Amino acid sequence: MRILIIEDDPVLIQHLKRKCEAAGFAVDTTRHGLEGEVMARDIVYHAVILDLGLPDQSGLTVLRNWRRARNPVPVIVLTARNTWQERVEGIEAGADDYLGKPFHIEELLARLKALILRCHSRFQGVLTVGGYTLSEEQQAVFPPAGGQVALTAMEFRLLRVFMLAPARIHSKESLMNAIYDYDKTLDHNVIEVYVNHLRKKLGKEIIRTLRWQGYRFTPGEEG
Ligand code: CA
Repeated sequence: MRILIIEDDPVLIQHLKRKCEAAGFAVDTTRHGLEGEVMARDIVYHAVILDLGLPDQSGLTVLRNWRRARNPVPVIVLTARNTWQERVEGIEAGADDYLGKPFHIEELLARLKALILRCHSRFQGVLTVGGYTLSEEQQAVFPPAGGQVALTAMEFRLLRVFMLAPARIHSKESLMNAIYDYDKTLDHNVIEVYVNHLRKKLGKEIIRTLRWQGYRFTPGEEG
């Protein structure tokens, strides 16, 4: 599970990172709103902890920009003052949960785990994009032309990443991060291998390679 923490307080961010790593998460951090916004655009995180009061770009703006770009990443916002106005603003901007400072780290971890479970289970079961239906239970995909195509565990995980963010261009690195646990260091070429497996099973037009950028899920697109 990989998470991103965006928090400008240098002491708090180190403390959060240590505690989250001890709880088993792979943790990326940044103290800058703009940088954080870009990081969660390029990497598929399981969740983001987002401070609202940031010096360069406010957490609310970061969150609004993600949601405007249809980035569904689960977000817990940290509000400086536990005022209802800040909480409302956070929720309206698309936050999934919030916590007012100061907070106990145990509460944050509990909320983080619950949030990931809740959002992840949203996608379990069945997901349909571009006429393709992915079934977790059957570990198979049902193409629009009919029939059922069985997938290996890795093919399933990879296709799910594509179908969860169908408009996004996925770099090899972000795909690696999304389908492997962080401590596994594997050759990026394995992504190419699995993408080719999916193309063989579903047709080569299912995933397009964008030179120097990565891959995109393109069901039914020409060329
Ligand atoms: Ca702050």
